[in-house]
Amino acid sequence: MPASLADALALLKNEPGVWKPFAGGTDLMVLLEAGKLPHRNYINIWGLKELRGIEVTDTQVTLGALTTYTEVQADPVLQSEFPMLCQAASETGGLAIQNRGTLGGNIVNASPAADSPPALLAYDAEIELVSSGGSRWLPYYGFHTGYKQMHLGPDELLARIRLPRNTRGATHYYRKVGTRKAQAISKVCFAAIGRKDDDQISDTRIIVGSVAPIVVRCVETENFLRGRKPDAETIQLACVRMSQEISPIDDIRSTANYRLQVAKNLLADFLLSV
Ligand SMILES: Cc1cc2nc3c(=O)[nH]c(=O)nc-3n(C[C@H](O)[C@H](O)[C@H](O)COP(=O)(O)OP(=O)(O)OC[C@H]3O[C@@H](n4cnc5c(N)ncnc54)[C@H](O)[C@@H]3O)c2cc1C
Repeated sequence: MPASLADALALLKNEPGVWKPFAGGTDLMVLLEAGKLPHRNYINIWGLKELRGIEVTDTQVTLGALTTYTEVQADPVLQSEFPMLCQAASETGGLAIQNRGTLGGNIVNASPAADSPPALLAYDAEIELVSSGGSRWLPYYGFHTGYKQMHLGPDELLARIRLPRNTRGATHYYRKVGTRKAQAISKVCFAAIGRKDDDQISDTRIIVGSVAPIVVRCVETENFLRGRKPDAETIQLACVRMSQEISPIDDIRSTANYRLQVAKNLLADFLLSV
């Protein structure tokens, strides 16, 4: 248990790959108990105050990587301006997981079925990675490159997540589709934000989880929608585009067909609500 962020980063630098960051432990403990973790050395970052807190300025909200789902739900600015993130937090696990699980852990665990990444991507989040060499901010979009693959060095920690405060007047649409209301892994997770100019769609960000090796931002579909009226023809064509951008599979939780159909239904519902 390092006393400071600097101590933690020095350890990661001096013994690369040896120490596994341990935040809330809600993903790690499951793997550890199942004997699926090769690591035997864990660096407990839970106590690092540098990775905690929610800071609000005129233009952005910055969340420490250790922000829990309970803290997300309690924040008034997140409630009013980033409701999809609060909804994702409220539908993650059960109360115990919400008290202990962190946004940073959800991002770095890199499950394609994770529930907060679609909301964070829809809100155009940026993330800060820190190492003993310094800090770098990068767009969250593009951070995950393949199943459990990401642009995170062995000596780096995810420190903060930043959301631009430009969501007023937009339509926010978030749906987690799972087997139960709580403690369910998503079959499909859909988050989208949209704006209209007169009767045309001016801007959207459309994100779908659990339908590919990583959470997918449907950029082609977004481009197709720009400048169109959200009428029946547009909706039908947009669903075709989105089908080409996602690649759902059959697995223990659902089938490819079901996932595809649900994703299309959610896109249609989102466009109708825009
Ligand atoms: C019963 C149960 C229900 C769940 N339900 C859901 C659900 O509905 N939706 C959902 O999305 N998830 C769910 N999860 C998964 C888990 O709770 C979340 O992914 C959670 O956000 C993980 O955060 P953590 O702090 O506990 O991560 P940890 O387990 O501590 O770490 C996860 C991974 O991230 C790395 N890591 C953590 N923090 C950092 C950091 N700051 N910098 C670098 N690396 C870091 C760790 O090394 C590890 O590889 C559930 C888990 C359980 C056990």
